[in-house]
Amino acid sequence: MKEQIMRWPKLRELKEAVTVIFSPRFTTRFPAEPCQVPESYRGKPEFQTEYCVGCGACVNVCPTEALTMVDNTDTEPAKRIITKRYDACIFCGNCEDGCTTQKGIKLTDQWDLATLDREETKSTYEFELQRCENCNAVIGTKKHMVWLARQLGPLAYTNPSLLLARNAEMFSHSELEQKYLAEQKSREPRVRDFSKILCPKCKCELNLHL
Ligand code: SF4
Ligand code: SF4
Repeated sequence: MKEQIMRWPKLRELKEAVTVIFSPRFTTRFPAEPCQVPESYRGKPEFQTEYCVGCGACVNVCPTEALTMVDNTDTEPAKRIITKRYDACIFCGNCEDGCTTQKGIKLTDQWDLATLDREETKSTYEFELQRCENCNAVIGTKKHMVWLARQLGPLAYTNPSLLLARNAEMFSHSELEQKYLAEQKSREPRVRDFSKILCPKCKCELNLHL
């Protein structure tokens, strides 16, 4: 009687083993085959350079400093450098949610990110900065200003700086124009400065002088 009791559990286990052999696999065949992740998977964030305007909003909402930004005004032209380090990323998605253009950075399905060299986790993106043509202060990236002007459409006519920034010709002044602009810097804004790209401070002063 006791022997019979012991045999039944063994037969049940055997049945389970045979069933599992003929059942579909529960695990993936990685690394023999790439692992398929769900559509909503949050993997390595990637900048979409076509749509990113370098505004830095994503840097401000990144909780781990996986995204950092520095404005380098020592170079000509001045540049904004945004650095991404995915070794510090917690894949929270804040950057994607808070992106100004809604398309500038996306979390991808890349999950196999292991590396022995931390430098490999770092990538940088450069954007040309627009300076105030009166006081030389940094206003923002040129790409951001052009994007704003396009978004505003006809309303951009209320902001000459945005309109001028949109005009690609203004991005490459002739030598004569550059000399003139250099001479005009660091003085009080005047009415004719309406035809210049100004920072908010100079714009405010200009309005007060009118
Ligand atoms: S997913 Fe989160 S932690 Fe990673 S870069 Fe974006 S905001 Fe920073
Ligand atoms: S918020 Fe969007 S557009 Fe602005 S820098 Fe970040 S990714 Fe680029």
